[in-house]
Amino acid sequence: MMSDSEFDCVVIGAGVQGSFTAYQLAKRKKKTLLLEQFVLPHSRGSSHGQTRIIRKAYEEDFYVRMMEESYKLWTQMEKEAGVKLYRQTGLLVMGPENNENYQIRKKTLLKNNVPMEQLTPENFGQHFPNVSLAKGHAAFVELTAGVLYADRTLKAVQGQFQKLGGVIRDNEKVTNIKPGSLVTVSTSNGVYRTKRLVIAAGPWTNKLLVDTGIQLPLEVVRINVCYWREKVQGSYDVKQSFPCFLQTEGEESSDHIYGLPANEYPGMVKICLHAGSNTDPDQRDQQTDRSDIETLQRFVSRRFPGLFSEPAVVESCLYTVTPDDHFVLDHHPAYRNIVIGAGFSGHGFKFGPVVGQILCDLSLGEVPSFDLSPFRIRRFQAKNKSLL
Ligand SMILES: Cc1cc2nc3c(=O)[nH]c(=O)nc-3n(C[C@H](O)[C@H](O)[C@H](O)COP(=O)(O)OP(=O)(O)OC[C@H]3O[C@@H](n4cnc5c(N)ncnc54)[C@H](O)[C@@H]3O)c2cc1C
Repeated sequence: MMSDSEFDCVVIGAGVQGSFTAYQLAKRKKKTLLLEQFVLPHSRGSSHGQTRIIRKAYEEDFYVRMMEESYKLWTQMEKEAGVKLYRQTGLLVMGPENNENYQIRKKTLLKNNVPMEQLTPENFGQHFPNVSLAKGHAAFVELTAGVLYADRTLKAVQGQFQKLGGVIRDNEKVTNIKPGSLVTVSTSNGVYRTKRLVIAAGPWTNKLLVDTGIQLPLEVVRINVCYWREKVQGSYDVKQSFPCFLQTEGEESSDHIYGLPANEYPGMVKICLHAGSNTDPDQRDQQTDRSDIETLQRFVSRRFPGLFSEPAVVESCLYTVTPDDHFVLDHHPAYRNIVIGAGFSGHGFKFGPVVGQILCDLSLGEVPSFDLSPFRIRRFQAKNKSLL
């Protein structure tokens, strides 16, 4: 019989990845504790806000395959929790016709039989009269892409976890990790002992890993989440079937620019640059760089003539970025009973259900059904010997 402070598994971080991992562990009948440093819900990490894009438009086949599974698990969670988490809108992908990044994305979707519709510069305006396609750009629509309801997801997954007997302790910061066959986890409120630990601490990952003797090459970046007001209300609305969109690169920036139809704030379209400036997650708002907003203003005035080119609302969110933009899903190099899920590089939300399954498998010593070589820590070690 375990005491109240002993667990089969402790998960640190109640963002999307930690919440789905804890849920999977509880589903496999493991006594699981989910620890969160802030009072839930909070808006200081990476998983807050109303919406995220779900898509398969990736350059790499392995992400497309993971998304096949993820879509199934999203539907399963909707059924279990009895809430709508996904809305199909399609994703309009635009990019320079001869650009490799744009072409590979298109080819990967075609190769994997993802439903899509290719547009020509001639018929683009009939489909999207309120968007101006840049000269030399091509476009297609990935039909099954859409919007995920982010805040609603966290509430649903955490609720299902608790229904399965899982324990959530929020407002409880992990202050120390002592590895061992039983890991000792000290918090602002107590001390726990656990057979397995999963670290899913988002931007705070390296602050926690210090206790375990490693640092990963992760950069924490602040993103300005900008909402742009419609000149005529309804022109870009989710209810009018306006899609999510992505420009792979353009004259405004070599980074992606992406957006979602007007939805959470009526009459306002969310458009962001997939890049930002480095920050410390505990000092986020001291980073005040607005050069991304200037880039977005140029994009909006050129490509979205039906929007005012000054953002009406600017919010903040954090990315935790790896050098190759691929995730970290692995055992700790020195302690097999510590598993790390990190570095989601600004594109991890849609994978939440499948990441939860993978981190759970790793933690229980089972073999995940995906090839995890792109996500291993040793890919960094070859380049940086000081990790361990
Ligand atoms: C503006 C923006 C737009 C995005 N758009 C998309 C999109 O369209 N599609 C998509 O798929 N993805 C998108 N993403 C990325 C996606 O949201 C993230 O990859 C994902 O939310 C990462 O989740 P996480 O659980 O790793 O991190 P987090 O959500 O940050 O969770 C980590 C948690 O750990 C907690 N924690 C940390 N340290 C401790 C400690 N010591 N003790 C206790 N708790 C601790 C934190 O408080 C936090 O709650 C976007 C991200 C941003 C910022």
